[in-house]
Amino acid sequence: MKTILVINTGSSSVKFKLFNMPGEAVLASGLVENIGANDGLAGCIRQGRDGKPVREKLSCADHGEAISHIFRVLADPVNGSMAGLPEIAAVGHRVVHGAERFRKPVRITSDVLEYLEAITPLAPLHLPLNIAGIRACIKQMPDTAQVACFDTAFFHSMPVASSLYPLPYEWYETYGIRRYGFHGISYEYLVAEAASLLSRPADELKIIACHLGNGCSITAFDRGAVCDTSMGFTPLEGLMMGTRSGSFDPAVVFYMMEHAEMSPDALMDALNRKSGLAGISGIGNDMREIVAAKKGGSERAALAFDMFVRILKKYIGAYCFAMNGADAIVFAGGIGENAPEVREAVLEGLSFAGIEADPVKNRKTTDGRAGMVQKQNAPVRILVIPANEELMIARCVFAHI
Ligand code: ADP
Repeated sequence: MKTILVINTGSSSVKFKLFNMPGEAVLASGLVENIGANDGLAGCIRQGRDGKPVREKLSCADHGEAISHIFRVLADPVNGSMAGLPEIAAVGHRVVHGAERFRKPVRITSDVLEYLEAITPLAPLHLPLNIAGIRACIKQMPDTAQVACFDTAFFHSMPVASSLYPLPYEWYETYGIRRYGFHGISYEYLVAEAASLLSRPADELKIIACHLGNGCSITAFDRGAVCDTSMGFTPLEGLMMGTRSGSFDPAVVFYMMEHAEMSPDALMDALNRKSGLAGISGIGNDMREIVAAKKGGSERAALAFDMFVRILKKYIGAYCFAMNGADAIVFAGGIGENAPEVREAVLEGLSFAGIEADPVKNRKTTDGRAGMVQKQNAPVRILVIPANEELMIARCVFAHI
């Protein structure tokens, strides 16, 4: 048995989970959130020693300090999450981008860190934080194996026709401009779970999986192999997201540069942080608030909801055509798991394609429950599967060390 710590560094949070492998028991878990908040106070929500949630406020200016706090919590025999910290065999890190080089998990060395530093322009919002998280863990545990698992790695098997853009070919050759795909760690887990729920091998199944969290993407799997995915060169492309635009006419960028005198930085900020559900609704990026405001009569919230659904539906249709149909559609992520209204609206009117959700089963399958929610006898299975990137990372790290 080996204990593996998984660290998932997001824009303003660090999630952690400690696993006992290969049994997959969770020994401790939690997250530090609101890192760098205006009031200087972050929050830590974690599983206490009695298994009940513990909430703390703490002063925590950056991701390095968040990780120091996590190690303190894990090692504190009185107030921490455990009676004492067991020996950790390895730390697994979620890393958003591995570019062309990393196609599977890799043991982190100074050479790996140098490469990650060099490719930060490919994921400027995420990679610097991932690197900060790795460096902070190395400082805490310099002799423990640190392993990077990449969100892009899973997509290297995607057909070239899906991964290239219809742009000058030299842009790909010289600058690496191509679709990389993201959320790969989540998809690897979802496909394995879907196959297990359907009691069929993944390589017999045509699956369309939707990971709908703050970032949203959709991926088509044709008999176990990735056929296409919506996120591209960066996690900005594809579906409408919480604060990210997803796909739109790139000519808008040049128009706004010229007519609104927006700089590249201001445009990146607008497309990544001020668009999507937040940009359209004017309310925020949280689907819970959008659904509540829509019910309360807000037209902008209703518009944001309708656009989110319409765009997702278009991709589902395209992927069904790309694979000559689908055996299953999977929903995961905060929205996919907890917003039955979204699933219902997306799947409405698709009975011609054998896609029909059962309204009662759909409404009941929320709050971390996994299940099948299609109507009886509907040929396409509709699965709700809670995303579990941390467990997938623990499995990969365990197989790697
Ligand atoms: P991340 O991509 O950061 O991992 P999550 O997968 O946790 O994000 O998803 C976060 C999003 O899930 C929130 O922004 C919110 O819109 C949505 N969400 C969470 N719970 C619900 C709910 N009960 N109903 C609707 N949406 C929800």
